[in-house]
Amino acid sequence: MTPPSRLAYRRYRLTFRHPLRTAAGWWRERDGLILRWEGEGGRIGWGEAAPIPAFGMETTGELEAACAALGAAPEAEAIARVPFRLGCLRHALGRAQAELTGRTPAAVHRFLPVAALLPAGPAALAKIPLLAEAGFRTFKWKVGAGDLGDELVLLDEVCAALPAGAQLRLDANGAWDRRGAERWLERCADRPVEFLEQPVGPQARGAADLLLGLAADYPTPIALDESLVGDGDLERWLAAGWPGLFILKPALLADPPAFLERLRGAAERVVFSSALETAVGARSALQLAFSWPGARALGFGVWPLFALPGFDGPAAAPFVRPEDLDRLDRQSLWNALS
Ligand code: MG
Repeated sequence: MTPPSRLAYRRYRLTFRHPLRTAAGWWRERDGLILRWEGEGGRIGWGEAAPIPAFGMETTGELEAACAALGAAPEAEAIARVPFRLGCLRHALGRAQAELTGRTPAAVHRFLPVAALLPAGPAALAKIPLLAEAGFRTFKWKVGAGDLGDELVLLDEVCAALPAGAQLRLDANGAWDRRGAERWLERCADRPVEFLEQPVGPQARGAADLLLGLAADYPTPIALDESLVGDGDLERWLAAGWPGLFILKPALLADPPAFLERLRGAAERVVFSSALETAVGARSALQLAFSWPGARALGFGVWPLFALPGFDGPAAAPFVRPEDLDRLDRQSLWNALS
Protein backbone atom coordinates (compact mmCIF):
# COMPACT_ATOMS: atom_id res chain seq x y z
CA MET A 1 0.00 0.00 0.00
CA THR A 2 1.24 3.49 -0.80
CA PRO A 3 1.73 5.37 2.45
CA PRO A 4 -0.57 8.37 2.88
CA SER A 5 1.03 11.52 1.67
CA ARG A 6 0.44 14.23 4.26
CA LEU A 7 0.47 13.52 7.97
CA ALA A 8 -0.06 16.38 10.40
CA TYR A 9 -0.68 16.51 14.13
CA ARG A 10 -1.88 19.07 16.63
CA ARG A 11 -1.70 18.93 20.37
CA TYR A 12 -4.70 19.77 22.53
CA ARG A 13 -4.94 20.70 26.17
CA LEU A 14 -8.53 20.91 27.31
CA THR A 15 -9.97 21.86 30.68
CA PHE A 16 -12.77 19.65 31.99
CA ARG A 17 -16.05 21.41 32.74
CA HIS A 18 -15.86 19.82 36.17
CA PRO A 19 -12.59 18.53 37.63
CA LEU A 20 -12.59 14.77 38.12
CA ARG A 21 -11.69 13.15 41.39
CA THR A 22 -9.31 10.24 40.85
CA ALA A 23 -7.21 8.02 43.09
CA ALA A 24 -4.24 10.24 42.14
CA GLY A 25 -6.03 13.48 43.12
CA TRP A 26 -7.96 16.01 41.05
CA TRP A 27 -7.76 15.77 37.28
CA ARG A 28 -8.50 19.17 35.74
CA GLU A 29 -7.34 19.05 32.15
CA ARG A 30 -6.64 16.49 29.53
CA ASP A 31 -4.08 16.59 26.80
CA GLY A 32 -3.37 14.53 23.73
CA LEU A 33 -2.79 14.70 20.00
CA ILE A 34 -5.07 14.79 16.99
CA LEU A 35 -3.68 13.27 13.78
CA ARG A 36 -4.88 14.27 10.35
CA TRP A 37 -3.74 12.19 7.42
CA GLU A 38 -4.57 13.39 3.97
CA GLY A 39 -4.31 10.80 1.25
CA GLU A 40 -4.83 10.68 -2.47
CA GLY A 41 -7.92 12.38 -3.80
CA GLY A 42 -8.20 14.49 -0.65
CA ARG A 43 -9.44 11.63 1.48
CA ILE A 44 -8.75 12.24 5.17
CA GLY A 45 -8.13 9.84 8.02
CA TRP A 46 -8.36 11.00 11.63
CA GLY A 47 -6.79 9.60 14.76
CA GLU A 48 -6.46 10.59 18.39
CA ALA A 49 -3.71 9.74 20.84
CA ALA A 50 -5.12 10.24 24.34
CA PRO A 51 -2.81 8.65 26.92
CA ILE A 52 -3.50 8.77 30.64
CA PRO A 53 -0.07 9.17 32.29
CA ALA A 54 -1.63 8.47 35.73
CA PHE A 55 -2.23 4.90 34.44
CA GLY A 56 1.51 4.59 33.86
CA MET A 57 1.12 5.31 30.17
CA GLU A 58 3.29 7.43 27.90
CA THR A 59 3.06 11.24 28.00
CA THR A 60 1.72 13.45 25.24
CA GLY A 61 5.16 15.08 25.03
CA GLU A 62 6.72 11.74 24.09
CA LEU A 63 4.05 11.19 21.45
CA GLU A 64 4.58 14.65 20.04
CA ALA A 65 8.31 14.01 19.69
CA ALA A 66 7.61 10.71 17.92
CA CYS A 67 5.21 12.45 15.52
CA ALA A 68 7.79 15.11 14.75
CA ALA A 69 10.30 12.35 13.96
CA LEU A 70 7.83 10.66 11.61
CA GLY A 71 7.49 13.81 9.54
CA ALA A 72 4.80 14.70 7.03
CA ALA A 73 5.33 11.78 4.63
CA PRO A 74 6.34 8.74 6.67
CA GLU A 75 7.20 5.46 4.99
CA ALA A 76 5.20 2.41 6.01
CA GLU A 77 8.33 0.97 7.66
CA ALA A 78 8.71 4.07 9.85
CA ILE A 79 5.11 3.73 10.97
CA ALA A 80 5.62 0.05 11.75
CA ARG A 81 8.67 0.97 13.83
CA VAL A 82 6.76 3.27 16.24
CA PRO A 83 7.58 1.64 19.60
CA PHE A 84 4.89 -0.53 21.24
CA ARG A 85 5.49 1.53 24.37
CA LEU A 86 3.82 4.44 22.52
CA GLY A 87 0.59 2.48 22.22
CA CYS A 88 -1.64 5.55 21.99
CA LEU A 89 0.30 6.82 18.98
CA ARG A 90 0.08 3.41 17.31
CA HIS A 91 -3.64 3.59 18.02
CA ALA A 92 -4.01 7.03 16.41
CA LEU A 93 -1.97 6.05 13.35
CA GLY A 94 -3.90 2.80 12.96
CA ARG A 95 -7.33 4.40 13.22
CA ALA A 96 -6.39 7.19 10.80
CA GLN A 97 -4.96 4.68 8.36
CA ALA A 98 -8.06 2.46 8.56
CA GLU A 99 -10.23 5.44 7.72
CA LEU A 100 -7.97 6.55 4.92
CA THR A 101 -8.07 3.13 3.30
CA GLY A 102 -11.81 2.60 3.84
CA ARG A 103 -11.32 -0.22 6.36
CA THR A 104 -13.52 1.17 9.12
CA PRO A 105 -15.85 -1.47 10.57
CA ALA A 106 -19.49 -1.59 9.48
CA ALA A 107 -22.26 -1.11 12.04
CA VAL A 108 -24.37 -4.12 13.02
CA HIS A 109 -26.54 -2.13 15.46
CA ARG A 110 -28.94 0.67 14.57
CA PHE A 111 -28.57 2.04 18.07
CA LEU A 112 -26.98 1.12 21.39
CA PRO A 113 -28.02 2.06 24.93
CA VAL A 114 -25.80 4.33 27.01
CA ALA A 115 -25.19 4.08 30.76
CA ALA A 116 -25.92 7.23 32.76
CA LEU A 117 -23.23 8.33 35.19
CA LEU A 118 -24.32 8.96 38.78
CA PRO A 119 -22.28 11.10 41.17
CA ALA A 120 -20.65 9.28 44.09
CA GLY A 121 -22.37 9.26 47.47
CA PRO A 122 -25.91 10.42 48.29
CA ALA A 123 -25.86 12.98 45.43
CA ALA A 124 -26.80 10.04 43.19
CA LEU A 125 -30.29 9.93 44.71
CA ALA A 126 -31.33 13.32 43.38
CA LYS A 127 -30.03 12.55 39.89
CA ILE A 128 -31.80 9.23 39.30
CA PRO A 129 -35.35 10.54 38.74
CA LEU A 130 -34.12 13.11 36.20
CA LEU A 131 -32.08 10.54 34.26
CA ALA A 132 -34.91 7.98 34.42
CA GLU A 133 -37.30 10.60 33.06
CA ALA A 134 -34.85 11.22 30.19
CA GLY A 135 -35.07 7.51 29.34
CA PHE A 136 -31.89 6.01 30.81
CA ARG A 137 -32.23 2.43 32.10
CA THR A 138 -28.60 1.63 32.90
CA PHE A 139 -26.94 3.59 35.66
CA LYS A 140 -23.36 3.63 36.83
CA TRP A 141 -22.54 4.58 40.39
CA LYS A 142 -19.03 5.11 41.76
CA VAL A 143 -18.56 3.36 45.08
CA GLY A 144 -15.58 2.95 47.38
CA ALA A 145 -15.37 6.73 47.74
CA GLY A 146 -16.80 6.94 51.28
CA ASP A 147 -17.35 4.82 54.39
CA LEU A 148 -18.15 1.25 53.38
CA GLY A 149 -21.04 0.81 55.82
CA ASP A 150 -22.63 4.13 54.85
CA GLU A 151 -22.38 3.25 51.17
CA LEU A 152 -23.99 -0.16 51.72
CA VAL A 153 -26.97 1.57 53.34
CA LEU A 154 -27.09 3.99 50.41
CA LEU A 155 -27.08 1.10 47.95
CA ASP A 156 -30.61 0.18 49.06
CA GLU A 157 -31.78 3.75 48.61
CA VAL A 158 -30.19 3.93 45.16
CA CYS A 159 -31.81 0.62 44.14
CA ALA A 160 -35.19 1.81 45.44
CA ALA A 161 -34.89 5.00 43.37
CA LEU A 162 -34.23 3.15 40.10
CA PRO A 163 -37.05 2.87 37.56
CA ALA A 164 -38.58 -0.57 36.97
CA GLY A 165 -36.33 -2.88 34.97
CA ALA A 166 -33.26 -0.70 35.39
CA GLN A 167 -29.77 -2.07 35.93
CA LEU A 168 -27.10 -0.65 38.19
CA ARG A 169 -23.38 -0.84 37.53
CA LEU A 170 -21.06 -0.30 40.45
CA ASP A 171 -17.46 0.84 40.01
CA ALA A 172 -15.18 0.59 43.04
CA ASN A 173 -11.97 1.50 41.15
CA GLY A 174 -10.09 -1.05 43.24
CA ALA A 175 -10.98 0.59 46.55
CA TRP A 176 -11.50 -2.52 48.69
CA ASP A 177 -9.67 -5.44 50.20
CA ARG A 178 -11.05 -8.99 50.18
CA ARG A 179 -13.36 -8.44 53.14
CA GLY A 180 -14.77 -5.20 51.73
CA ALA A 181 -15.35 -6.80 48.36
CA GLU A 182 -17.09 -9.78 49.99
CA ARG A 183 -19.41 -7.55 51.99
CA TRP A 184 -20.45 -5.75 48.80
CA LEU A 185 -20.88 -8.90 46.76
CA GLU A 186 -23.05 -10.45 49.49
CA ARG A 187 -25.23 -7.35 49.42
CA CYS A 188 -25.40 -7.17 45.63
CA ALA A 189 -26.58 -10.77 45.21
CA ASP A 190 -30.34 -10.10 45.26
CA ARG A 191 -30.27 -6.57 43.91
CA PRO A 192 -30.49 -5.32 40.30
CA VAL A 193 -26.74 -5.01 39.94
CA GLU A 194 -25.55 -5.72 36.40
CA PHE A 195 -21.93 -5.96 37.51
CA LEU A 196 -19.39 -4.73 40.02
CA GLU A 197 -16.34 -3.18 38.44
CA GLN A 198 -12.89 -3.74 39.88
CA PRO A 199 -13.71 -4.40 43.58
CA VAL A 200 -9.98 -4.79 44.29
CA GLY A 201 -7.17 -3.12 42.42
CA PRO A 202 -4.53 -4.82 40.26
CA GLN A 203 -1.85 -3.82 42.81
CA ALA A 204 -3.49 -5.71 45.68
CA ARG A 205 -1.53 -8.77 46.82
CA GLY A 206 -2.64 -11.83 44.85
CA ALA A 207 -5.15 -9.66 42.99
CA ALA A 208 -5.71 -12.05 40.09
CA ASP A 209 -6.46 -15.07 42.31
CA LEU A 210 -8.58 -12.92 44.59
CA LEU A 211 -10.69 -11.64 41.68
CA LEU A 212 -11.05 -15.14 40.22
CA GLY A 213 -12.13 -16.44 43.64
CA LEU A 214 -14.69 -13.67 44.13
CA ALA A 215 -16.07 -14.25 40.63
CA ALA A 216 -16.54 -17.94 41.45
CA ASP A 217 -18.10 -17.38 44.88
CA TYR A 218 -20.76 -14.75 44.15
CA PRO A 219 -23.53 -14.49 41.57
CA THR A 220 -22.99 -10.80 40.68
CA PRO A 221 -20.63 -10.58 37.69
CA ILE A 222 -17.35 -8.77 38.23
CA ALA A 223 -15.85 -6.52 35.56
CA LEU A 224 -12.15 -5.87 34.96
CA ASP A 225 -11.10 -2.32 34.16
CA GLU A 226 -7.82 -1.26 35.82
CA SER A 227 -6.70 -4.92 35.62
CA LEU A 228 -6.98 -4.81 31.85
CA VAL A 229 -4.52 -2.24 30.55
CA GLY A 230 -2.59 -3.93 27.76
CA ASP A 231 -2.52 -6.96 25.50
CA GLY A 232 -0.51 -8.99 28.03
CA ASP A 233 -3.21 -8.48 30.65
CA LEU A 234 -5.91 -9.73 28.30
CA GLU A 235 -3.93 -12.87 27.44
CA ARG A 236 -3.49 -13.69 31.12
CA TRP A 237 -7.19 -13.26 31.95
CA LEU A 238 -8.32 -15.27 28.95
CA ALA A 239 -5.85 -18.03 29.80
CA ALA A 240 -7.15 -18.05 33.39
CA GLY A 241 -10.71 -18.50 32.09
CA TRP A 242 -12.02 -15.20 33.47
CA PRO A 243 -15.80 -15.64 33.70
CA GLY A 244 -16.71 -11.98 34.21
CA LEU A 245 -16.82 -8.85 32.09
CA PHE A 246 -14.14 -6.89 30.28
CA ILE A 247 -14.26 -3.08 30.31
CA LEU A 248 -12.70 -1.95 27.08
CA LYS A 249 -11.44 1.57 26.47
CA PRO A 250 -10.56 1.41 22.77
CA ALA A 251 -8.73 4.77 22.91
CA LEU A 252 -6.06 3.27 25.18
CA LEU A 253 -5.35 0.21 23.04
CA ALA A 254 -2.62 0.16 20.39
CA ASP A 255 -4.69 -2.05 18.08
CA PRO A 256 -8.33 -2.32 19.22
CA PRO A 257 -9.53 -4.56 16.34
CA ALA A 258 -6.83 -7.14 17.14
CA PHE A 259 -7.67 -6.94 20.85
CA LEU A 260 -11.37 -7.42 20.11
CA GLU A 261 -10.70 -10.36 17.85
CA ARG A 262 -9.46 -12.30 20.87
CA LEU A 263 -12.68 -11.50 22.71
CA ARG A 264 -15.03 -12.83 19.99
CA GLY A 265 -15.99 -15.79 22.17
CA ALA A 266 -17.00 -13.41 24.98
CA ALA A 267 -18.95 -10.89 22.89
CA GLU A 268 -21.68 -10.31 25.48
CA ARG A 269 -19.13 -9.77 28.23
CA VAL A 270 -17.47 -6.74 26.66
CA VAL A 271 -18.40 -3.21 27.77
CA PHE A 272 -17.14 -0.36 25.59
CA SER A 273 -16.08 2.63 27.60
CA SER A 274 -14.74 6.15 27.16
CA ALA A 275 -11.19 7.18 28.11
CA LEU A 276 -12.39 10.80 28.25
CA GLU A 277 -11.16 11.43 24.74
CA THR A 278 -12.37 14.07 22.27
CA ALA A 279 -14.84 13.59 19.42
CA VAL A 280 -12.07 12.20 17.19
CA GLY A 281 -11.24 9.27 19.45
CA ALA A 282 -14.86 8.85 20.44
CA ARG A 283 -15.92 8.42 16.85
CA SER A 284 -13.53 5.57 16.17
CA ALA A 285 -14.21 3.92 19.54
CA LEU A 286 -17.97 4.04 18.99
CA GLN A 287 -17.60 2.76 15.45
CA LEU A 288 -15.98 -0.34 16.90
CA ALA A 289 -18.78 -0.67 19.44
CA PHE A 290 -21.40 -0.49 16.68
CA SER A 291 -19.61 -3.21 14.75
CA TRP A 292 -19.39 -5.54 17.77
CA PRO A 293 -21.94 -8.37 18.13
CA GLY A 294 -22.47 -7.70 21.87
CA ALA A 295 -24.89 -4.97 22.86
CA ARG A 296 -24.20 -3.97 26.48
CA ALA A 297 -24.96 -0.35 27.38
CA LEU A 298 -22.02 1.87 26.46
CA GLY A 299 -19.85 3.57 29.06
CA PHE A 300 -19.92 6.74 27.00
CA GLY A 301 -22.33 8.90 28.98
CA VAL A 302 -19.56 11.41 29.66
CA TRP A 303 -20.21 14.34 27.36
CA PRO A 304 -20.33 17.31 27.53
CA LEU A 305 -16.97 16.95 29.20
CA PHE A 306 -14.80 19.87 28.09
CA ALA A 307 -15.11 23.55 28.95
CA LEU A 308 -14.42 24.54 25.34
CA PRO A 309 -17.26 23.65 22.95
CA GLY A 310 -16.64 21.62 19.80
CA PHE A 311 -14.46 18.89 21.30
CA ASP A 312 -17.07 16.65 22.89
CA GLY A 313 -18.33 13.31 21.60
CA PRO A 314 -22.08 12.70 21.28
CA ALA A 315 -23.93 14.31 24.22
CA ALA A 316 -25.08 11.80 26.85
CA ALA A 317 -28.47 10.40 25.81
CA PRO A 318 -30.17 7.06 26.56
CA PHE A 319 -29.28 5.81 23.08
CA VAL A 320 -26.65 6.61 20.48
CA ARG A 321 -26.94 5.81 16.76
CA PRO A 322 -24.26 5.40 14.09
CA GLU A 323 -25.48 8.54 12.35
CA ASP A 324 -24.80 10.55 15.52
CA LEU A 325 -21.11 9.96 14.79
CA ASP A 326 -21.39 11.52 11.34
CA ARG A 327 -22.40 14.76 12.97
CA LEU A 328 -19.13 15.10 14.87
CA ASP A 329 -17.21 17.79 13.00
CA ARG A 330 -13.58 16.78 13.16
CA GLN A 331 -12.35 19.40 10.70
CA SER A 332 -13.73 22.22 12.88
CA LEU A 333 -12.16 20.63 15.93
CA TRP A 334 -8.85 20.54 14.06
CA ASN A 335 -9.21 24.14 12.93
CA ALA A 336 -9.84 25.23 16.53
CA LEU A 337 -6.40 23.88 17.46
CA SER A 338 -4.49 25.99 14.97
MG1 MG B 1 -13.86 1.67 35.92
